[in-house]
Amino acid sequence: MHIDIPGGVLEKWQNIVDTMAKIIAVPAGLIMRIVDDDIQVLVSSQTEGNPYHPGDREKLPGSGLYCETVIRKNTQLLVPDARQDEHWRNNPDIRLNMVSYLGFPIRWPDQTPFGTICVLDNKKNAYSQLHEHLLTQFRDVIEQYLQLIHVNVQLSVAKAEMEVLNGQLKVLASTDSLTGVLNRRRFDEVFEQEWRRAARAHTPLSLLLVDVDHFKHLNDDFGHLRGDDALKMVALALRTMAARAGDVVARYGGEEFAVLLPRTSPDKAQLLAETIRRGIERTVLFKAENDNITGTVCIGVAGQIPAEGDDPLQMMQAADMALYRAKLRGRNRVEA
Ligand code: GH3
Ligand code: MG
Ligand code: MG
Repeated sequence: MHIDIPGGVLEKWQNIVDTMAKIIAVPAGLIMRIVDDDIQVLVSSQTEGNPYHPGDREKLPGSGLYCETVIRKNTQLLVPDARQDEHWRNNPDIRLNMVSYLGFPIRWPDQTPFGTICVLDNKKNAYSQLHEHLLTQFRDVIEQYLQLIHVNVQLSVAKAEMEVLNGQLKVLASTDSLTGVLNRRRFDEVFEQEWRRAARAHTPLSLLLVDVDHFKHLNDDFGHLRGDDALKMVALALRTMAARAGDVVARYGGEEFAVLLPRTSPDKAQLLAETIRRGIERTVLFKAENDNITGTVCIGVAGQIPAEGDDPLQMMQAADMALYRAKLRGRNRVEA
């Protein structure tokens, strides 16, 4: 992961390299950073005759740069005069007339290399112990910044993970664990929201209350676990059949489901209810020994264009009463 150094920190580091180059009286003070396979000038002192510019970069492996050696050996490097030194005679910085070098590695808190802090001169320079001391002091300050940046990154990663977990928790708290559709608590909230939205937009809102017929018998005959399977199948069937964007399926209680249909007139809702009734009639709710067990539902339908001051509970009661009528009239029925 590439971690950006914040602008405020780069300003402080600019002060550091400016001060460092001026005190040591050299044309160039640099903070170099490893970026992928490259080494990049991250901060360059604003001093006379400095040939390096922020953003300059070169492939690091095999570059022959002073900094490559500092990073590879993970230790300081002093080259008083590259022209006199067999090893350094051909290094690319000489082309820029930078013939002497003092640099130290900068590391991330986990000790992986970040880059280097260094000074370069256009003449022979042995640098003093005081200069070395100065560079290491500045290096320590930079590493402390890196520590802070690292902690901040870890915090924001932790925060992002928390947000994901919170999202998952919210979904869990809104979902019926058996069937995976919305639970009653969340449905009540959504119903209120959709009611207000429909009132504002003057669009119809319809509601189906779906109750499995004779479900108690199913439980008694085949056991609760099979009853649970059947409820999952009913929920799945409802989700499949009420699948327009905005349609909401919820488990309203026990073996009763609610289907909320925004932008749907009561007539259309009744048609859909009839489709659902027929669909479930043909759905295998679970397989018994030698038998495919089907079941039926009753559906109560209510719908309206909500007006200012109307109570959503009234629509709920209307759907409930329609459902009750469907049960009275013999089950496997839709009533509105
Ligand atoms: P009706 O046709 O009048 O709706 O009869 P019914 O038997 O479906 O209605 P009733 O209200 O008498 O019984 C509902 C049954 O649903 C009783 C209860 O044991 C069962 N039930 C409710 N929740 C669950 C559940 O989560 N799992 C299972 N397996 N059964 C449940
Ligand atoms: Mg029932
Ligand atoms: Mg019931």
